[in-house]
Amino acid sequence: MPQTKKPKSAASTSSQLCGSDRPESQQLAEPREQGPSGVSEGGGEDSLGDPQIIKSPSDPKHYRYIELSNGLRALLISDMSGAGKSSSKDSDSSGGEEEEEEGEEGEEEEEENEEEEGDSGEGTEEESEDGEKEHDSDFDELDEDNDGKKKKGCSEKQSAAALCIGVGSFSDPEDLPGLAHFLEHMVFMGSEKYPAENGFDAFLKKHGGSDNASTDCERTIFQFDVQRKHFREAMDRWAQFFICPLMIKDAIDREVEAVDSEYQLARPSDSHRKEMLFGSLAKPNHPMGKFCWGNAQTLKYEPREKNIDTYTRLRDFWKRYYSAHYMTLTVQSKETLDTLEEWVREIFSKVPNNGLLQPDFSHLLDPFDTPAFNKLYRVIPVRKVHALTITWALPPQGKYYRVKPLHYISWLIGHEGTGSILSL
Ligand SMILES: [Zn+2]
Repeated sequence: MPQTKKPKSAASTSSQLCGSDRPESQQLAEPREQGPSGVSEGGGEDSLGDPQIIKSPSDPKHYRYIELSNGLRALLISDMSGAGKSSSKDSDSSGGEEEEEEGEEGEEEEEENEEEEGDSGEGTEEESEDGEKEHDSDFDELDEDNDGKKKKGCSEKQSAAALCIGVGSFSDPEDLPGLAHFLEHMVFMGSEKYPAENGFDAFLKKHGGSDNASTDCERTIFQFDVQRKHFREAMDRWAQFFICPLMIKDAIDREVEAVDSEYQLARPSDSHRKEMLFGSLAKPNHPMGKFCWGNAQTLKYEPREKNIDTYTRLRDFWKRYYSAHYMTLTVQSKETLDTLEEWVREIFSKVPNNGLLQPDFSHLLDPFDTPAFNKLYRVIPVRKVHALTITWALPPQGKYYRVKPLHYISWLIGHEGTGSILSL
């Protein structure tokens, strides 16, 4: 179902199944005692990595986990590798890396590259463990293209951040389907500190960056990358989404159109249709059955008819759910951990915390324990595809995220070697 921002980029509309098999836990990191007491790791410069964080021996990055006074949790990643010494690298950052100090010429070139890429979007790289399988096949090809380009254009120098709010479309009010998704769009429409509509996008575009956002059932995720030297400012601009977004009335109507066009784009997608079918099979009143996307009908015309003030409701939703204690943040840059910590504390400590309990849907078990689910459905596809999909409804897997039992099963089923199921 959901939902990447950027209506202009079909490629970025990779879809994530809003299913019970998504990890439900927002606990991305185990809370740890906060403390400045990192132990210097062998070979590290002045970066103090968090000794409790287990990483691969070949991973040259340094990690630190912190909690801010407002409850926001953050993982800092200092990637100093390549700064003068050559070390073994992760697969995604290997290859001829350039010196980070480069002349204006180089930078311009990079910006041009980015320009080209421009509106074709950036294709949410599905980092989440479950993401890969749930990619909307309609857009796979496009995504690959983008990934390819990205690797050519800009790699090492980029700094990046992602912020996850443990709230999503399940929290949509009954009378305003799609509000969570709509809010995810609206926070881009300027802030008190940086009032320009879509100013963040413009800033990134100018500095070789890209961004995206998506709304899932119980999570909303924002992410961006940018050239390192603009990282701090980009973070400050981005953080205003969560500190003081403007969300002015005037912008609402315009942005409803953006959400609506995303919806219209996704409508003919077979995987989207399949998700809608699943939604319709859930138990009555289970949030799985909600229309999470939102469109002009649910966000504009119906509210108008029913005298629902979308403007106020949007602000209420932000106040209620965009709270620091539901948020986890990751930042990665070629800075020391101390610098990253200073920036994150300085910028994100301003995100308000309303002290309210996080919405919890864990009591709504077995959404698909219904006769309607245990049936064979024949679906006439939009595209010329033939597919057989067998679907199991599983209990929530979030708490097993360290072990990932489903990965074992999927690896075994998908294995193509001698004696594998596929070789039979
Ligand atoms: Zn969207």
